[in-house]
Amino acid sequence: MQRQILRYPDPGLRAHAAPVRVVDEQVRRLIDDMAETMYQAPGIGLAAIQVGVPQRVIVVDVSNERNDLRVFVNPEIIERDGMGVTEEGCLSVPGVFEEVARPQKIRGRALDRDGRPFEFETEGLLAVCIQHEVDHLNGKVFVDYLSRLKQQRIRKKLEKQQRLAM
Ligand code: ZN
Repeated sequence: MQRQILRYPDPGLRAHAAPVRVVDEQVRRLIDDMAETMYQAPGIGLAAIQVGVPQRVIVVDVSNERNDLRVFVNPEIIERDGMGVTEEGCLSVPGVFEEVARPQKIRGRALDRDGRPFEFETEGLLAVCIQHEVDHLNGKVFVDYLSRLKQQRIRKKLEKQQRLAM
């Protein structure tokens, strides 16, 4: 089932997501819904916060073929290395793409959709995307990295879009 994606500056995007205690059927349903919502959008990553669920769950697929779904429950980034700049976008900030500097290599751990722990080590777009989604779990949106002026412009642009959509 597709879920509705919160739009910046919705205060729901500022929520701090709580760790998942048990990966049960309800969490798996959330994961399936998030994957469906992400593919439908279409986007390359989605955090549960973005569909109004403040739990630490993210889904990512940076493949061109759209067949490499990665699920991270309670993701933790342990090591970061090598800063680089990537143009980022966000399903909660439609139509906005801006350059953000982040570490390009990360190492971390998470639980999979069966609740089994795993470690990951990745770089490039996947590493950037995971960090972007983990930020969401901490109430952070990529536009927070931009200048105040840019943030104001983005806010105005989205407000205008929403007025036009009504
Ligand atoms: Zn995002």
